Amino acid sequence: MNETMAKRLEERLVRYARIDTQSDETSETVPTTARQLDLQRILKAELEDLGAADVELNAAGFVLATVPATVRRAAPTVALLAHVDTASDFAASGVKPIVHRDYRGGVLTLPGDPSVIIDPAKEPALAARRGGTIITADGTTLLGADDKAGVAAIVTCAELLLADPSIPHGRVRLCFTPDEETGTGIGHLTLEELAADVAYTLDGEALGEVTYETFSADRAVLRIHGVAIHPGKAKGRMVNALTLAAKVIGLLPQYARSPETTAGREGFIHLVHLQGTAAEAELAFILRDFELDELEAHGEALRAAADAVAKLEPRAKVTCTITRQYRNMRYWLEKDMRPAELALEAVRRAGVAPIEVPVRGGTDGSQLTERGLPTPNLFAGVHNPHGPQEWASVEEMGRAVETCIHLVRLWAEEGPPAAKGR
Ligand SMILES: [Zn+2]
Repeated sequence: MNETMAKRLEERLVRYARIDTQSDETSETVPTTARQLDLQRILKAELEDLGAADVELNAAGFVLATVPATVRRAAPTVALLAHVDTASDFAASGVKPIVHRDYRGGVLTLPGDPSVIIDPAKEPALAARRGGTIITADGTTLLGADDKAGVAAIVTCAELLLADPSIPHGRVRLCFTPDEETGTGIGHLTLEELAADVAYTLDGEALGEVTYETFSADRAVLRIHGVAIHPGKAKGRMVNALTLAAKVIGLLPQYARSPETTAGREGFIHLVHLQGTAAEAELAFILRDFELDELEAHGEALRAAADAVAKLEPRAKVTCTITRQYRNMRYWLEKDMRPAELALEAVRRAGVAPIEVPVRGGTDGSQLTERGLPTPNLFAGVHNPHGPQEWASVEEMGRAVETCIHLVRLWAEEGPPAAKGR
C-alpha cells in the first residue's frame, strides 16, 4: 500500500467516525434514524467529486453509485457494500477518533477512560500490527469502524478505479446501506436498484476473512395463558403463567444447546425476552444453526418443552409460533462457488492468507444471497466492534482495498455467476 492510500483511508475513517450514525431498533421510520443521512449526504457529494456515475441518495436512505466499466467485453457487474450505521450496544455519539501512528506494540490506553485498555498480549491481531497505524475511539464511545472502515475502503477503492482507467474491470456498483445493525435496512433495497451480478459486503473482522456461510435463523414465540383469580381464593383454581414459563425454561438446559454452551458449527436455542403476569406470559427465542435439519430440531425441542408443560397443566393454553428469519448463504452459493473462490484468490493476490470462517450470525449478504444475488462478506480492518475497545488498522483497510481491486479485475475475466433462486 502506498502512503497516499494510507493517508486517504485514515482521513476518511476519522472523518466518518466523528459523525453520529447510530441506528435505533425501536424506531419504525425508514431509515430508523435521520442522522444516518448526515453521513450519506457527505458520501454522495464525495462520490460525485470523485467522478462516479449515477450517484444517488434514494428515498430509503441508500447511497448508490457506479464506476463505469473499463473493458469492452460483457463482464459481470460487481457491487461493493458497507453499512453506515453504528450499533446501539454502546455510546456512539461524540466519537473522538485517536490515530496511533507507528504503533510500538504496547498496551493502548484510551485517554477518555483510562480503565479501558487494548492489550496486544490478549489480542494477537493487534500485536501483529506493530509499526502500523491504529485508530481507536477515546474509551468513552465505540469507534464505529464497524462499518465505516468498510465505507472508507470502498470510497478509496472507487477513487483508485476512477483515477486509473488502465485497471481492467467491468461495471462496479457502490452501495452504502443504513440500518444493518437493526437488520431492517437491506430489505428496503431492491436488486433492480443495486443492478449487480455479484456483490460483496466489507463488514468482516479478521485480516483475510472471507465469509460465505452464515447461520440459518428462526424466531419462536411461546405464549402461555394461565387462569387468573384473586390470590386469596386461588386454591385449586389459579394457574400461574409465570410459574409455567419458568418450567419451560427449566426444561431447556437438558437440551444443552444455548449460546453459552456452544461454539464453532453448533447451533442453539436462545431465550431473548420474557414478560408476563400470573394470567399470561410470553417467551421469545431465537433459533440458530448452520444446517436446516438441525434448525428444525431446535424448533422441535422447544415445542417438546412447551408440550410437556401443557401436559403437566391441561388448564393452561400453551402455543408456540416459529417464524423464519434468514438462511445460510451457502445453500445458494454452493451451486456456483466462484463468488467465494474469486474472493479467496483476490485476498491471496493482496498478499494475505485467506481465512474462511462461518459467521455465527447473519449479514446483509444473507438476505441478498437468498434473494438471488450472491453476496459473501470480506474483512474490512475492524476489531472488537460494538464496544469501547474497538480498533481499526489502516494497513488492513489497505489490504481490503487491494482485495477489492483484484476482485473486480478477476470478475472482468469471468462470466456471470449462477445463483438465482434455489
Ligand atoms: Zn458491521
